[in-house]
Amino acid sequence: MQLAELRRGIDDRTALARALQEIVGPGHVFTHPADLIAYEYDGCNFMAALPDLVVCPLSRDEVVGIVRAAGRHRVPVIARGAGTGLAGGAITPIGGIIVSLARMKRILQVDLDNRYAVVEPGVINLDITAAVQARGYFFAPDPSSQSACSVGGNVANNSGGVHTLAFGVTTNHVLGLELVLADGSVVQLGGRGADEPGLDLPGLVVGSEGTLGIVTAVTVRLMRRREGLLTMLGIFPTIEQASQSVAEIIASGIGPTALEMIDQLTVEAVEPAVHAGLPLDAGAVLLIEVEGVREVLAPSAGTIDALCRRNGAREVRTARTEEERHLYWAARKGAFGAMGRLAPNYYLHDAVVPRSRLPAIMRQVMEIARQNGIRVANVFHAGDGNLHPLIPYDAAVPGETERVMKASEEILAACVAAGGSLSGEHGIGFEKNNYMPWIFSETDLAAQRRLKRAWDPEDLMNPFKMFPTPISCGELMVRRPPRLSASGLWI
Ligand SMILES: Cc1cc2nc3c(=O)[nH]c(=O)nc-3n(C[C@H](O)[C@H](O)[C@H](O)COP(=O)(O)OP(=O)(O)OC[C@H]3O[C@@H](n4cnc5c(N)ncnc54)[C@H](O)[C@@H]3O)c2cc1C
Repeated sequence: MQLAELRRGIDDRTALARALQEIVGPGHVFTHPADLIAYEYDGCNFMAALPDLVVCPLSRDEVVGIVRAAGRHRVPVIARGAGTGLAGGAITPIGGIIVSLARMKRILQVDLDNRYAVVEPGVINLDITAAVQARGYFFAPDPSSQSACSVGGNVANNSGGVHTLAFGVTTNHVLGLELVLADGSVVQLGGRGADEPGLDLPGLVVGSEGTLGIVTAVTVRLMRRREGLLTMLGIFPTIEQASQSVAEIIASGIGPTALEMIDQLTVEAVEPAVHAGLPLDAGAVLLIEVEGVREVLAPSAGTIDALCRRNGAREVRTARTEEERHLYWAARKGAFGAMGRLAPNYYLHDAVVPRSRLPAIMRQVMEIARQNGIRVANVFHAGDGNLHPLIPYDAAVPGETERVMKASEEILAACVAAGGSLSGEHGIGFEKNNYMPWIFSETDLAAQRRLKRAWDPEDLMNPFKMFPTPISCGELMVRRPPRLSASGLWI
């Protein structure tokens, strides 16, 4: 089946645009291709699909109006937060309306006595912590994109972060949700306590990638900062030695809050950008963080130092100042952005394996790269066994994209064969939906589909995501990034 055959046309686009304008005001509906093109991609930059319309509501009631209007025209509705998703979740493969929640960015309530906040979906992740940190609190999920991504996106993707190892993923920090369903009804799920009666519907919605409805408010858990913080760097000749140290640090019972791996190729890209003092010739750098009462931090530092050196670390550093600590984290969090120094394009993978399989899978990833004649940079949440092989490439070189895609599939297959899964945190979206049968039986998938159909019988909420479809992400690889021609023009 061809993609064009599946694209759901809009019976009367002008009438729909007018109806949306009446709901949100004329300045907040976009119909011109020059505007729509900004919503063609998300962070997964090799897939592109032009939406039919983009609408930017300011309130829950406006979202309800939009969903009802879309339902009358039987047009798909795709929620969009900040568009930093890396699995093509916020794009429109078969057309439809993008509902950008970026204007819904109010923190509605902060209750520190009961440790929760109620926020609109467009609130930027880091803004929650910024609002409460002076009083010693924080919002734990911290994706590396936290200065840009929205809480609605975090909920939809059940996002993780560099401190997932200690604090868990988004689902562990969502107490309640307000959701607009496909028929325009508004439901309140969960509440403000840790264990509300009834079905665990927040648990169902978190991670459902916008396929069940549009989240219009989130009650998040707030956590109290611990007394002290220890941030260390282990510098290793090889990634296997660093991986072995990860397993041993965890086995020692120290309970680090973060264990992040940065390999040699990543250091090569990021060090000239952030100047964190990472040695360019290191095979791998392990960023280790421990939180707790001050009395336990010094002995923990001694144990980590000894374990890393026993595994061949040539140097172990401890951040002496807050500035130094920020620099180490800037190297980790700036790694994806720095990839532009290596090549015009990159494909960032997200898969997960049992932590004990980490050293073996790293060897396999490097072997797959060698066989396919590509380079792979690795920067990832090693403590969770959550891999992020990053393949820098040049889409303008004939055959290179195909080699990258082949290697990517082989990496994914190796992770699944090692007892792992398709995604550690970025979600399935339109990137990996056709791999779902690798980890779920037909019966498992049918049960999930039945759940979706119960709330969205017409399949209007983010269709063609998460579940296998007749088309694959390869069919959306229609656009090449613009390049500067010899004559100085972008082509
Ligand atoms: C540099 C970089 C680093 C990253 N690091 C991490 C990381 O460490 N950990 C991690 O987990 N991810 C990471 N990501 C991926 C991404 O930032 C997260 O998935 C994030 O939660 C997406 O949020 P967003 O607001 O950008 O969502 P979008 O990209 O806009 O949307 C993502 C999905 O959520 C749905 N959605 C958005 N808002 C709503 C809503 N209100 N209601 C219903 N559905 C909605 C969309 O339909 C889509 O399916 C990174 C991305 C980048 C670019």
